[in-house]
Amino acid sequence: MDAVPQTPRITVTAIPGDGIGPEVMRATQRILAAAGARIDWEEAEAGAAAFRKGIATGCPQETLDSIERTGVALKGPLETALGYGEKSANVTLRKFFELYGNIRPVRELPGIRTPFSGRGIDLVIVRENVEDLYAGIEYLQTPSVAQCLKLMSEPGCERILRLAYALARAEGRTRLACSTKANIMKTTEGLMKRVFERIAPEYPDIAPSHLIIDNCAHQLVIAPEQFELIVTSNMNGDIISDLAAGLVGGLGIAPSSNVGDRVAMFEAVHGSAPQIAGKGLANPTALLLSAVMLLRHVGDFAAAERVEQAVFVTLQEGRNLTGDIAPKGEGAGTDAFTDQVIANLGRG
Ligand code: NAD
Repeated sequence: MDAVPQTPRITVTAIPGDGIGPEVMRATQRILAAAGARIDWEEAEAGAAAFRKGIATGCPQETLDSIERTGVALKGPLETALGYGEKSANVTLRKFFELYGNIRPVRELPGIRTPFSGRGIDLVIVRENVEDLYAGIEYLQTPSVAQCLKLMSEPGCERILRLAYALARAEGRTRLACSTKANIMKTTEGLMKRVFERIAPEYPDIAPSHLIIDNCAHQLVIAPEQFELIVTSNMNGDIISDLAAGLVGGLGIAPSSNVGDRVAMFEAVHGSAPQIAGKGLANPTALLLSAVMLLRHVGDFAAAERVEQAVFVTLQEGRNLTGDIAPKGEGAGTDAFTDQVIANLGRG
């Protein structure tokens, strides 16, 4: 029998980030190594450490150079100082590499019990990632009046909508909901709705619908199983994807990817969780499942499958789960969970 060709080793930029970032990154790298993922890591810095060094963007040039070179990054959460005018290092990275598509899958996982369990939730939120209120254009008009520019463009809307349609086809999904606040912000949010309606006839195999974003939040709680794919603008997507993560077990298990035309960056949906940072309590599943998305992106399907199955078996058996997903009072630490996933590699 012919030997199965091995995927070539690839280099990935690893940004451990802030708060719980280094803990969940270490856990993820241990599991990937144990699963035989053919990855060499190039470690890079961004976030609080860079701000402390006076780097105003939060991203040192070496980090940008590393991502430019590798084309693929796994990133821990980066802290954003609130309300003091500093740029967000996350926004810098997304804008610098034009990572215009933020893909956030939301599905029920084995063993995770929530009030919504058994509803068959399996949807993807596709969030525009570089425009809207997150373009970072805000300033004080007077000492007591602040302004933030909501910037949306026709090409920006069109590429995210086409990405959502392409994803629907790639994943065999048949319905795409576009959600905006077009009823109030007719020029900006309305632009996304108009482009959606213009290009919809080009995708006759996908049923399009539009709903207002506040109703979308309502529908996500009332009947989340009705959605297959939701495409929306930046801030809407940021908010409803956290909401949707909460339906299936919370931020500790929610992965994502940020994609552009030449670079892809994978990260958990959650932030730096400062309350539990450094205590060995963080759940690495969200970053780990983001790494599974990364492995599929680079074509290492065997390692992706091994890791994903080991996570499913671990969640299903319910042993050594971290506190955010374990029954009350039974939480294990990050290391015990990581060891458990490694022990379950090859099962499932
Ligand atoms: P957060 O996501 O850090 O925490 C929200 C809640 O979820 C907290 O109770 C936290 O303990 C819990 N949580 C999050 N991840 C967890 C995990 N892996 N395991 C167990 N529990 C987990 O949100 P926040 O507190 O609003 O933000 C903290 C910082 O992170 C802020 O500076 C924010 O700007 C930043 N942030 C960064 C990103 C990113 O880098 N992509 C995303 C969101 C927030």
